[in-house]
Amino acid sequence: MNLDTICVHGSGNNPDYTGSLSVPIYQTATFAHKGVGESTGYDYSRVQNPTREKLEELIGTLEGGAGAAAFSSGMAAFSAMTALFSPGDHLIVSDDLYGGVVRYFHTIAAKNGIEFDFVNTSHLPEIAANIKPNTKAIYVETPTNPMLQVTDIAACAALAGEHGLLLAVDNTFLTPYLQKPLALGADIVLHSGTKFLGGHNDTLAGFLVTRSEELIEKIRFISKTVGSMLAPFDAWLLIRGIKTLAVRMDKIEENTRKIAHFLLNCKKVKKVYYTGFENHPEFAISKSQARGFGGVISFEVDSRETAEHILNHVKLIYFAESLGGTDSLITYPFLQTHADVPAAVRDKKGINDKLLRLSIGIENAEDLIQDLEQAFSMGGRE
Ligand SMILES: *Cc1c(COP(=O)(O)O)cnc(C)c1O
Repeated sequence: MNLDTICVHGSGNNPDYTGSLSVPIYQTATFAHKGVGESTGYDYSRVQNPTREKLEELIGTLEGGAGAAAFSSGMAAFSAMTALFSPGDHLIVSDDLYGGVVRYFHTIAAKNGIEFDFVNTSHLPEIAANIKPNTKAIYVETPTNPMLQVTDIAACAALAGEHGLLLAVDNTFLTPYLQKPLALGADIVLHSGTKFLGGHNDTLAGFLVTRSEELIEKIRFISKTVGSMLAPFDAWLLIRGIKTLAVRMDKIEENTRKIAHFLLNCKKVKKVYYTGFENHPEFAISKSQARGFGGVISFEVDSRETAEHILNHVKLIYFAESLGGTDSLITYPFLQTHADVPAAVRDKKGINDKLLRLSIGIENAEDLIQDLEQAFSMGGRE
């Protein structure tokens, strides 16, 4: 079956005994037993819940994994993944990352004795140069947030394989509809399901999907022990959101290309970061490992004043954190998502007070462009 069909039907038509097309929301904490030693297979919702299980099956199928675990947020999924490691283990991590992950490394991971090095994973030799005897995994976000750097997943997987390391890939920005890291050799895929998968800016969720049965079992053990899984109603919202993933991603792709080209021609825009431009440093890799370029564009304007003016004047586009929903959002990474990233690191990556990030939604592209045009216009000084 093709991915767009799987998005709608999961692994097949399987309504319950009532014929309900919509997966029922099993809003229950616990499950009754008929007698000692008898179980329906469900005991307690922290361990397993039929609604969440349907969603996990769906994500596992979409990513082509052995299994998936659904968490209450992307960060909950990330935190469960790091529980695979022990004090003294070393991880190699992309140097441009979702801000919350950077904060996690500097605070929780550091405190728990996990060692890490941030490297530019777009450059394979930099990864190789940082492998130590205690290195256990490589964690990459591709494309990265917010600078949209791309890592060659297959090459990275080969390197990880040579050294017996796990490769984990944050696939939030492209979703399995556009990029399948497990097929390229990754061991773990992480998602903030809050973004494109949920797709409506209405719920938080996170996922871990693994290539091996063994690894998903370890992750399920962590999940039931730590207790950070997704609630039944939120699981249902994700199943519903994913039904339209393919059509949303297609429309977002088309809109984003138009808006990226519009930005290129704006006088006040100094740089546009978009993986779909042929002069993007990793355009060729993007093209070969993904079916599309996704819905995120970052751009640098001429001054902080212009950046603030735009944020204060967008009307249709919301000035809000997050990305991946039906509604277009504009974000100020410097003050929002990446405020906790050390200033020196931000400066080095170009996350400055002139950088804005757009997450393009499914509105009409012309309306979005008009909104940006009016927000860019600063009275008589244009
Ligand atoms: C948002 C995001 C996260 C964190 O997910 P939450 O659902 O907000 O906890 C992780 N990685 C990426 C790339 C993100 O965009």
